[in-house]
Amino acid sequence: MADLADLTIAQAGRGLRDGDFRSTDLLDAASTRATVTEAHLHSYLIMDHDGARAAAVAADEAFAGGEDLGPLQGIPIGLKDNMCTLGVETTAGSKILTGWKPPYDGTAVARLRRGGAVITGKMNLDEFAMGSSTENSAFGETRNPWDTDRVPGGSSGGSSAATAAGSVFGAFGSDTGGSIRQPAAFCGIVGMKPTYGIVSRYGLIAFASSLDQIGPFSRTVEDSVALLESVAGWDRFDATSIDAPVPNFGGSLQAGVAGLKIGIVKELMGDGIDPQIQASTRATADKLADAGAEIVEVSMPSTEYALSAYYLIAPAECSANLARLDGVRYGHRSSIEGTTEEMMGHSRAEGFGPEVTRRILLGTYALSAGYYDAFYGQAQKVRTLVRRDFATAYDQVDVLISPTTPTTAFKVGEKSADPIAMYYSDVCTIPSNLAGDPAISVPVGLDDKGLPIGFQIMAPALGEEVMYRVAAEVERLVGFDERPSLATSEVTPA
Ligand code: GLN
Repeated sequence: MADLADLTIAQAGRGLRDGDFRSTDLLDAASTRATVTEAHLHSYLIMDHDGARAAAVAADEAFAGGEDLGPLQGIPIGLKDNMCTLGVETTAGSKILTGWKPPYDGTAVARLRRGGAVITGKMNLDEFAMGSSTENSAFGETRNPWDTDRVPGGSSGGSSAATAAGSVFGAFGSDTGGSIRQPAAFCGIVGMKPTYGIVSRYGLIAFASSLDQIGPFSRTVEDSVALLESVAGWDRFDATSIDAPVPNFGGSLQAGVAGLKIGIVKELMGDGIDPQIQASTRATADKLADAGAEIVEVSMPSTEYALSAYYLIAPAECSANLARLDGVRYGHRSSIEGTTEEMMGHSRAEGFGPEVTRRILLGTYALSAGYYDAFYGQAQKVRTLVRRDFATAYDQVDVLISPTTPTTAFKVGEKSADPIAMYYSDVCTIPSNLAGDPAISVPVGLDDKGLPIGFQIMAPALGEEVMYRVAAEVERLVGFDERPSLATSEVTPA
């Protein structure tokens, strides 16, 4: 019999409802897979064995009693470790929060529990979600299941690697500038960033509040819809959550693309984008054209400045958000004696890693009197221009397409000494964050090194339905069914 760990969420849900197996069997399959893969990957920071077992048993009892809470009931999933979980350590990948157990569940987490999901644990990430490789975690990097010499992407690298390797059936991450889509592309799975405000940020440890969004990792587009639906919707605890009915995300998965107008972003198909990735993007666009879509080239001139604007706005917001970590209220407190102010300084110096420190310094500088207009103010103007580029584009087309990343997964250590090269990983994903729009990465092939290539579909705000419609068609047309060699129980633990 096939390994249960390889089922999609939809398949696992059918099997649970048909009585072919129980939630505890799914959890066993995922845990067995993890005992093999974790020695190579380090995608987990914490496994919540007891909590997961209790949730699986509760799900099985619910099924036995005829209770059905929805598509995630009984399904083992992972959470990025910047999502607050009641009583379960939540570190955001930082030494400063080591040992901190939140006194509450974030809204997305609470909704998952209410839907009967089995939360297996907390997944590794770049410290406070700042990074593109998961190498900035204070607890050691995560590796890519396709090639363990390489990074899984970041910052949600743990969620992505585990979903690809089969130690969870799906996972959640957060995407501020690409942290779901980029690792999904690097790991050959589906990763989606919703419209800003679709998923509550209450209980998501803030990095850059005007950009952060929680979103799902999955092996299929259909599963992505199920995961997103289980957490979406207005929340009174997040003033920026959208107070409107949740759109029908999966309503058009079977509709195909005939009659749709699709724009390929010219500025994301040139210099700096690996020629193999460009070729694969074009080949996928050609398939969409054969399936009846009209493909046009769209120019978005401000895209060129999006990365620079992001690296002012995100650090500025992070410098404000991380001010709360002062050794008084949460986490690490320095043992060096001194005044309260000195204690705060030492606690922060000891607790934050180098990339987070760099961002706080840059952000504080960009916001300081005399520099505010030249840096932060200027970046906000660029953000408006990026939004206008999207608005103009969506006057002409239904969705936009591009590569998800300029390269496939790079080697561990390859970019860690060069922050600018690392930042460039997000050149294709950041524009949608600045605009607040939804975007998804779908795997479309492998490069000549056998590494996955991601294809990005971007849609206007609240356009998840058309975005998923195109994503589902890409999935059907391309038929990507490769899995990393690590995703089998036959590999021996390292
Ligand atoms: N890699 C980007 C950064 O370092 C994006 C991170 C994210 O989306 N959380 O800021």
